[in-house]
Amino acid sequence: MTEFEQVDGQLAVGGVPVERLAERVGSTPFFAYDRRLLTERVALLREHLPADLQLSYAIKANPMPAVVQHLSTLVDSLDVASALEMRTALDTVKPPDRVSFAGPGKRDPELRQAVAAGVTIEVESETEAARIARVGSALGVRPRVAVRVNPDFSVKGSGMRMGGGPQQFGIDAERVPALLKELAGTDLEVLGFHCFAGSQNLNAEIIAEAQRRTVELLLRLAGDAPAPVRYLNLGGGFGIPYTGKDRPLDLAAIGGNLETLLRDEVRPRLPDARVVIELGRFLVGEAGVYVTRVVDRKVSRGKTFLVVDGGLHHQLAASGNFGQVIRRNYPIAVGNRVAEEPSEQVTVVGCLCTPLDLLGNDVTLPPAAVGDLIVLHQAGAYGLTASPTAFLSHPAPAEVLL
Ligand SMILES: *Cc1c(COP(=O)(O)O)cnc(C)c1O
Repeated sequence: MTEFEQVDGQLAVGGVPVERLAERVGSTPFFAYDRRLLTERVALLREHLPADLQLSYAIKANPMPAVVQHLSTLVDSLDVASALEMRTALDTVKPPDRVSFAGPGKRDPELRQAVAAGVTIEVESETEAARIARVGSALGVRPRVAVRVNPDFSVKGSGMRMGGGPQQFGIDAERVPALLKELAGTDLEVLGFHCFAGSQNLNAEIIAEAQRRTVELLLRLAGDAPAPVRYLNLGGGFGIPYTGKDRPLDLAAIGGNLETLLRDEVRPRLPDARVVIELGRFLVGEAGVYVTRVVDRKVSRGKTFLVVDGGLHHQLAASGNFGQVIRRNYPIAVGNRVAEEPSEQVTVVGCLCTPLDLLGNDVTLPPAAVGDLIVLHQAGAYGLTASPTAFLSHPAPAEVLL
C-alpha cells in the first residue's frame, strides 16, 4: 500500500493530520487525495516504462477537476468517457489532440461536441463511425478517429473483462479490415487503433502477454489502414492491491516487456506512431482516502459495531458491491490513532439502512470511540463517482486535494 505520512500519531494527507483536516473541510465524511502520491505514482511509472511510451490518464477513475488538473501536468494525454469528462479535460493545459473519447453509446450531441473540439474519438461500432462522419460534414470539420478493436483473445485475471468474445466495446477484430476499407471513402481522419482488454489486473505476466498479443493484432490491422498509423493505444488495466491477499503489480516486468515490444515490433514498422497506455485506477487509486467519523459504538450479542457517518453511498467498492465476486475488507484504520496498537476486533458499518453497508468486517483496530475518524484506504479511484450517492438521500461528501 502506498504510504501516507503520519504526523503526531495521525494519518496525514498532504502533511495535514486527519483531525485538523476534518476541521478544515468542515464536515465528515469526505474524500482526500494526496498530490505528492499522485506525482510519485507517475514518476514510478516513468521510471519503469519505455521513454517513448506515452501515458494517458483515464478520467473516469477520478474526475475531480483538481485531480485532473494536477495529473494533466504530469501525463501525456487524457482519456474521457462522456461530454462532461471531456470538458474537464479541455479545461486543462492539454490540447484537444491529446484528449481521446472512448465508450459505447455516444450520443449525437456528444459526438458534435467532440468533433467540434477536435479530440480523438475512439470508434466503438460501424454505425457510430457513420454517425461521426455525418456530424463531421454537418459541422464542416474533419473528425479525428481511432478504431477501438475488440480483440480476438481475452485476458484472464482481470477484475472486469472488457475485450474478447462478444462485447459492447469496440469492433470485432475480424470486422476491422472491412471497416477500414469503408472509412477510406469517408472524410474521417483515421489516426490509428485502440484496444482495452480489461481492468484491475495484478498479474504482470498476463498483462505482458496481453500487450504482446495487442501489439501483434494492431500491427496486423495497421496494414489495412487508409493512412499511416500515428496512434496506437495499447490499453492498460494495471491493478492495485485492495486486500491482504493482493500483491502489488511487478512494474519492472511490464516495463521490460513493453521496451522489447516497442524496439523489436512497433518501431521498425511504425517509427512515428504515438504509442500510449491508458491508466485510471493505477494512477489515482492509492492516493485517496475516504474519511468518516464514528457516530455510534454498540455491542450486539458479543459483536462490537462502529457505526460511521459514511457508507456505501459514497464508497461502494469498499462494501464489496462494485463488481467484486467475494467481499474482502479494504485497508481500514482509525485515522487519529494510527500509532496505537490494533487490539480490538470490531465491525465497521455505514449509516445506511441496509446490511450491505459493511465497510470493515471483523477488523482489528486500536480501540475507537465515538468522534474518532475511520479512514478507508484505496479510495482514490472509482470511489465517489462510482457510488450511489442518492441512495438514502444523505448529503454529498466533500472532496479535497492536498
Ligand atoms: C475505464 C477505462 C480505463 C481505465 O481503467 P483502469 O482499470 O481504471 O485503469 C482505460 N481505458 C478505457 C477505455 C476505459 O474504459
